[in-house]
Amino acid sequence: MRKTTLLFIPGFFIGIIFLILTSCQPSTPAKETESYNEEDARMIKMIFDEALENGKAYGWLEHLCVEIGPRLAGSENADKALDWTESLMKSENFDQVFRQEVMVPHWERGTKEKAQIVGSGEVLNVLALGGSIGTGSEGVQGEVIEVQSLDEVDELGEKVKGKIVFYNRALDQKHVSTGAGYGGAVDQRSGGAIRAGKYGAIGVVIRSVTSAFDDAPHTGMMNYEDGVEKIPAAALGFQSADKLAEALKKGPVELFLQMYCQWFPDAPSANVIGQLDGSEKPEEYIVVGGHIDSWDVGQGAHDDGAGCMHSVEALRILKAIGYQPRHSLRAVMFMNEENGVRGGKKYAEIAKGKNEKHILAIESDAGGFSPRGFGISGADESLDKLRSWLPLFPQNTISFINKGGGGVDVGPLYRETNTPMMGLGVDPQRMFDVHHSPNDVFSTVHRRELHLGAASLAAMIYLVDKYGL
Ligand SMILES: [Zn+2]
Repeated sequence: MRKTTLLFIPGFFIGIIFLILTSCQPSTPAKETESYNEEDARMIKMIFDEALENGKAYGWLEHLCVEIGPRLAGSENADKALDWTESLMKSENFDQVFRQEVMVPHWERGTKEKAQIVGSGEVLNVLALGGSIGTGSEGVQGEVIEVQSLDEVDELGEKVKGKIVFYNRALDQKHVSTGAGYGGAVDQRSGGAIRAGKYGAIGVVIRSVTSAFDDAPHTGMMNYEDGVEKIPAAALGFQSADKLAEALKKGPVELFLQMYCQWFPDAPSANVIGQLDGSEKPEEYIVVGGHIDSWDVGQGAHDDGAGCMHSVEALRILKAIGYQPRHSLRAVMFMNEENGVRGGKKYAEIAKGKNEKHILAIESDAGGFSPRGFGISGADESLDKLRSWLPLFPQNTISFINKGGGGVDVGPLYRETNTPMMGLGVDPQRMFDVHHSPNDVFSTVHRRELHLGAASLAAMIYLVDKYGL
């Protein structure tokens, strides 16, 4: 059993980043300045043409999702994804392709979970939350007590003792930016077991944090706290949560929960990095990355195979149009964003140790949907300049630059080395329909949308490489 004090909460931070990135109004149209010239307009047209006509990211993503599949840190599939992305970047003739070794947490779901309403025999769709302890084959069984918030558990106190706490607050659909809705509900997933465990509950189920109304349960990281009894925690599909709530309206309900998940010792893994060497300042870097690990259900297509393929594709496009970067450009396949961020931390540790100068670190982890804008943290003085480039992006592909944003994997670099971090913002309507669920599969990704995201990243990298922040 792995002992941890309040694990890092990637999912929650994603929510916050989405919120920051998407809750602000799009910027007003950019002022015309002399911050770019006709050559830039030509180059950016070439970037978009290359992406839309000859884009490779979609085919690559198909391989990653369909041939390799889900790839939780520490799994055999995660290793396969590292090998494959390494050979991919070599086959694209990147100047350097290398690994950064890192030990990662290793948790496995095991045999499929089961949740059943005792008596009626009603079976509910359920997934263990990432990091939860299992129940063993004997399962746990107890009366269900429904709450809408962590605070309500505090109010109930000892009344939850011996019971299974059902967190039933849904994602608030009123937010146009679904990330804000996600951020407003995910505390039940990340902190629900700690709060219920404090008062002697024997298990936790949550309504999945999803914008969809289907019955696919959505997993994601949950946490334990030293000194608080660890109890099993699982997510119910949206419709299954409805069924449980309906049953509770009629009277007391007993739930049987069986989960075989367990922790194993940390496993060796790595980040994989592909680099185009800079022609003028090769010791200064611009990073673009996504996380190559995914949850163990679905195929990790939007979260975050898309961001990884975006990153490799952005560099491929720049190479294909014959652009010679001034700074070294890196596409980083970060490992273990979902349940530990060890890859992001390792990248920052090495960068700091080697005193590497990073100009900017961009992350794509919002899905492979139509690009909309960028959010940036740590470079407030650059906002006017960045916004002045907006007219270069065709057809409002990128229509805003917001203050705030970045990504979970580039966060450590931002905090440890003060490197400005940026996140690609995309159309947020569908991400939380599929995020962390069996529905995050390749067939939900649209070729042109994915390629427009890669083009937007390539164009931003081109501009920052040429003009700085
Ligand atoms: Zn992600």
